[in-house]
Formats: sequence, structure tokens, C-alpha cells
Amino acid sequence: MLSVDLSSAIAEIKKRSAKTVLLQLPEGLKTRNIEIAEKLEKKTGATIFLSIDPCFGACGLAEQQAKQIGADLIVHLGHSQFYAPEIPTVFVPLEYELGNKKIKKLAGNCSVLLKKNSLKKISLCTTIQYLRFLDFLKKEFEKKGFSAEIAKGKNVEAGQVLGCNYSGVSKNSDAIVFFGDGLFHPVGISFSSKKLVFTMNPLSGETKELSGEKEFFLRKRFALIEKAMDAKKIGILISSKKGQFGLGKALELKEMIEKHHKQAFLFTGDLIKPDYLLGIDADAFVCTGCPRIAIDDASAFKKPLLNPSELKIVLGEKKIEDYEIEEFFG
Ligand code: SF4
Repeated sequence: MLSVDLSSAIAEIKKRSAKTVLLQLPEGLKTRNIEIAEKLEKKTGATIFLSIDPCFGACGLAEQQAKQIGADLIVHLGHSQFYAPEIPTVFVPLEYELGNKKIKKLAGNCSVLLKKNSLKKISLCTTIQYLRFLDFLKKEFEKKGFSAEIAKGKNVEAGQVLGCNYSGVSKNSDAIVFFGDGLFHPVGISFSSKKLVFTMNPLSGETKELSGEKEFFLRKRFALIEKAMDAKKIGILISSKKGQFGLGKALELKEMIEKHHKQAFLFTGDLIKPDYLLGIDADAFVCTGCPRIAIDDASAFKKPLLNPSELKIVLGEKKIEDYEIEEFFG
């Protein structure tokens, strides 16, 4: 269960005497948006507007909407600051409530796996919802004789990873231990760090080493890369979300595609969704925005949708052994 502590938002609204506030919540919390708005309105007297656009990260702050409604403040839930906003914004983290017993058990199981692989020096990382458990985990691993580091990243909290930013992972370790749910982050870490990655999932209670998942992921991506090899017309997608906007990268890719005697067309839009691409006469697409779009929604896109590094493999500008998931740091 995610806990929502609105005290920092309430304090900020009061401190700024904000009269109009735009509330932005992640998709997973939509069912609670009215409850949260009601609470903020009651405690502060401010008029609360709710953004209904899907929100997957602080890379897509609803600043334009905030300007249109004349908001004094944005209350953004669930993500940490990605770039310096123009409109005053308070970022409210959402955290899981977990008991120490559960965390200790996961750390114990993971230690067994690490010892089996003779790994002593680990880098601990997680997503924002679990950040506050990292120090406890560090102590647990140290008690078991490991050297555990929580690395300071760029534009993220120590030990924090995003799907587009793995700088909170130490390169000076024997292995990476990811605490959290889902596979996208740990698989991304395995490409960026080139080290063994172990996951401890507090929701499923599972602990495992990730080589099998990485293999499976690569097989699926290579199938798409192969499918895109014959593409003659390639659509380059640019997200207009401020934290994802990659005009320079898109123009660079256009030049590269044309150098390989293929046609390149530039498309721009706020959200990149499978149905928005239907009917476009391109053979394949490349997305310069969030790297998760091409990966999480891969099966929903009718034509191959690649990330830039994958397109470079298609064009022969990059070796398949150098496969990676794009990072950008806000
Ligand atoms: S670009 Fe994607 S991975 Fe990065 S913060 Fe935004 S939604 Fe998350």
C-alpha cells in the first residue's frame, strides 16, 4: 500500500498563500485523486484543479496547464524533480509501507545468492517509492559481511534510479542489488552497468539474479531490430514533454538515416501512443523521448518502434554487443 503524506504540500500551499493549485498524480493513484484534492482543499482553502493527462514521470510536469489556469503552485505526486520548473512545484513522494521483517528476509535470501556467486561488493539502488529503505538494507548487508554502497547519482537522490537515469548505481561494485518491483529498471541497470543484477521484490517476496530475464528481453528487442532492417521510410518521434524533448537527437538521427539512403520524417506530439501512429505510411519508428515507450508498449505498436541505440544497430552504426537503453539526466 502506498502512503500519501500531504504535509509538505499543505505547508507549501500555506507558505505561498497559494489560491490556485494544480494537482498532478501518477496513473497508479488516479482512483484516489478526488480524495487527495478534497483533503488539500479542506486543509488549505485553495482551489484545486486536477490534471487528467496521464503522468508517468516528473519529465512531464503540467506547466502549460498550470499557466492556463493561473496556478500559483503545482503539487506533483509520486516523482522527484527532473528539471527546474518554471512554475513553483512541490514534489510529494509516495512511499510503500513495509515491515523490517520482510526487508530482512529479502536481504537474507539475496545474501545467499551473492555468496554463491562469490560477490562481496554491492551497489544498492531502488525507485523513489522505496528510497527510505536503502539505509536499512545497507546495514543489513554490512552485518552479513558485504560492502554495500548507495551511490550519488546525477539529478536523482542517492541510490535512486529512473527508467532513463541509472547514475545512482555504482560502477565500482561486483554486482548491483535492486530493491523494488517490476523488471524494466533492473534490466536497464544490467545494460548500463554490465554487471550481474539481483532483484529483491518486496511485493512478490521474490529474490533473483536477472540474466535469464535480460536474455529474454534481448531476444524480443532483436526480433524488432531485425524486422526494421528492411525499413525504407522511418518516422522519428519527438515528445514535446519538456524532460523528454530531444530535438537535437532527432535531427542527428534524420541525418544518419538519410546517410544510409533511407527516408526520415519528423513527428512531434505530447503523448506517444500506438493508435496515434496508425495509418502513418512509415515502415518503422524511432522514439527520442522516454525509453520506456518503445519497450513497455512494444506489442501494441503495429510497426517496429525502436529506441535510438536500436536504430543505430539497424543502420550498422552500432554493434549488437553494445546494446543499451538510452539514458538522459534531466
Ligand atoms: S523519461 Fe521516462 S523513465 Fe525518464 S522520468 Fe520520464 S517517464 Fe520516467
